Amino acid sequence: MIVMKFGGSSVESRVAIDRVATIVAARAGRHPIVVVSAMGKTTNRLLALADHAVRGDRDRALTALKELEQFTIEEGGAVGGAVPALFQELAELVKGLAVLGELTPRSIDAISAFGERISSLIVAEAFRRNGLDAVHADSREYIVTDERHTQAAPLYPETYDRLKTKLAPIASRQIVVMGGFIGSTRAGVTTTLGRGGSDFSASIIGAGVDAEEIQIWTDVDGMLTCDPRILPVGHRVRVISFSEAAELAYFGAKVLHPSTVLPAIDKNIPVLILNSRRPEVEGTRIVSQAVPAKNVFKSIACKLNITLVHIKSTRMLMAHGYLRRIFEVFDRYQTSVDLLATSEISVSLTVDTTQYIDKIIQDLSEYAEVTVEEGSAIICLVGENIGMTPGIAGRVFASIKDVNVRMISQGASNLNLSFVVDGGDLRKAVAALHDEFFSDPDAQVFERKPAA
Ligand code: ADP
Ligand code: ASP
Ligand code: MG
Repeated sequence: MIVMKFGGSSVESRVAIDRVATIVAARAGRHPIVVVSAMGKTTNRLLALADHAVRGDRDRALTALKELEQFTIEEGGAVGGAVPALFQELAELVKGLAVLGELTPRSIDAISAFGERISSLIVAEAFRRNGLDAVHADSREYIVTDERHTQAAPLYPETYDRLKTKLAPIASRQIVVMGGFIGSTRAGVTTTLGRGGSDFSASIIGAGVDAEEIQIWTDVDGMLTCDPRILPVGHRVRVISFSEAAELAYFGAKVLHPSTVLPAIDKNIPVLILNSRRPEVEGTRIVSQAVPAKNVFKSIACKLNITLVHIKSTRMLMAHGYLRRIFEVFDRYQTSVDLLATSEISVSLTVDTTQYIDKIIQDLSEYAEVTVEEGSAIICLVGENIGMTPGIAGRVFASIKDVNVRMISQGASNLNLSFVVDGGDLRKAVAALHDEFFSDPDAQVFERKPAA
């Protein structure tokens, strides 16, 4: 049994969905369970229209919904009236929101889950049209989560039990198609696993049914040595370890949701990243053991639009409990801290949500001087055992001599060297680093990008 997950762009149109059917048909003998994302940009569109509704712009919300329905039916079909019926249900929900004028995490989940509920029906139907023996399964009956709406975490024992006893038997006979991203609480309330969460769903399902492989099909050839949105020069990484992949995902390599590798590690199931537009490319294989390479790093990840906060103690000089007090403030406003560097009385850290930044500054200002730099970017170089390799930091910072480095963090994981630069310097810095560390890629581990 294998799990094959297809992301939004892999199911964005009729042509794309037929391509997926061909890819799955070629692997039908391996008993695939197919996990799909919402079509194209559907999740963004659902969230935007929910926003219009609660802001009182009911008409705009309903127009946007009509447009989404037209797109969905044009590219995916009506599935014997099931799709229009779901859109009808969605319209009622949106009207309700417009009356209430309030968007709770629970209702965000109810709305955004429609994307995957609909796309999975559409893909199952398309498979049958293409002659595959496919059956739809509602992920919410299998993925049991806690109640943290919009960021729910799976309750593993129950989820695995349902997957093993209820889903695996169906999947041994037919090709199961199910939505990623969604689950439900024990009480049956719809939840989602967080943006980009379909990768995570695939991994949970793979671990639950003891799949031999989890395949993440997307729109790039695999994990690349740099983010193609920043710089289109990256080589394909042929093989990478779970820990390196997780670190890259956490620091912005959107190609993989950061939690994806956890269930796979648990059961030691290899994860593959593959391109649905070029299925012949062998992609990236993520494996449990470390992957030695001549190059020190496997890839460079970046996180844009982050905020750097410098906190300098005013009164509590050298007092113990200083860090605790700082973190309590971030905890109070549920803002997670990514990078951290401290000296005697100063702490610098980065956050990627600024929703509560004013309140955070206000609270910290009781005992510290706070300065904030918005529009910063994190650059994160990832490779196994970098802490043990002499001279790495020297090479990194020598290659970006003319870039102002605002903060550095290394050592926490022995896997990454991360630092913060001004957003405007990001491209230049990544280009210089890529030149320095990937101009001669180890052919065992990387496939060199052909010269343009
Ligand atoms: P999907 O809809 O299939 O889940 P995503 O958009 O979530 O696809 O992830 C794929 C995208 O991840 C790529 O199109 C690419 O722009 C981005 N990405 C960022 N960093 C990397 C990287 N290091 N290697 C490959 N892709 C990356
Ligand atoms: N559709 C969801 C999102 O856009 C989940 C996913 O695609 O992974 O975030
Ligand atoms: Mg994704």
